[in-house]
Amino acid sequence: MLEVSDLRVSYSGIEVVHGVSLSVAAGECVALIGANGAGKSSTLKAICGLVSASGGSITFEGRDITRASGHAIVRAGITMCPEGRQVFPQMSVIQNLRMGAYIRTDAEQEADLSRMMDMFPILRERQSQAAGKLSGGEQEMLAIARALMARPRICLFDEPSLGLAPKIVAGVFETLARIKAMGVTILLVEQNSMMALGLADRAYLFEAGRIVMEGAAKDLKNHPDVMRAYLGH
Ligand code: ATP
Repeated sequence: MLEVSDLRVSYSGIEVVHGVSLSVAAGECVALIGANGAGKSSTLKAICGLVSASGGSITFEGRDITRASGHAIVRAGITMCPEGRQVFPQMSVIQNLRMGAYIRTDAEQEADLSRMMDMFPILRERQSQAAGKLSGGEQEMLAIARALMARPRICLFDEPSLGLAPKIVAGVFETLARIKAMGVTILLVEQNSMMALGLADRAYLFEAGRIVMEGAAKDLKNHPDVMRAYLGH
């Protein structure tokens, strides 16, 4: 479904992603793990057009989207659930959800809205409240539901557990598992490697802007180098 080939990303002429190649098949859940600053988020941002690639190519369902604009990439079926949630704080919960469906013209948006609130009952309870007043965990649920409102073919998640208490993190991962079970293709960036490898089918390990290891998530989870460097034992 998604093919990233020899991707390079630079900020002010300084390259931080040095030729990354990865792929995601339809229905798969793929995790990008590794230390802070390894280039995971920059890779994700290049895929959804938030930063431009300085080299390489990105192909989605056979179409070259390397130079496509962000809105064209969303229309193609790629949606990002951004790091730090980035809900629209002064808009209500329901307005945030409607923003997720901004590109849609079909008649099923209201039904999807209702489905999202069935999936996240707290969002139904708080539907008229300003999104900025929600707790961090509730905002993460809103950001996930808003992303799903676009009916993406693939959903990119950037650090969904960042800054959340362990109990809330467990809830976020349960939600991601439900989304995976619904058949949504997932590309996930996570510093919580243990949780990410528990959820994903396959994973890529990033180090200093390069992929240094890839494989089935369960193999990476048991790999001594990964355990030592990222899983704390
Ligand atoms: P993190 O978990 O901290 O987000 P990461 O693996 O996702 O880590 P990136 O965020 O992609 O890494 O960062 C890769 C490198 O690019 C880092 O050295 C970072 O400081 C730098 N970087 C990221 N965004 C910018 C930016 N907007 N301008 C300049 N440098 C940036």
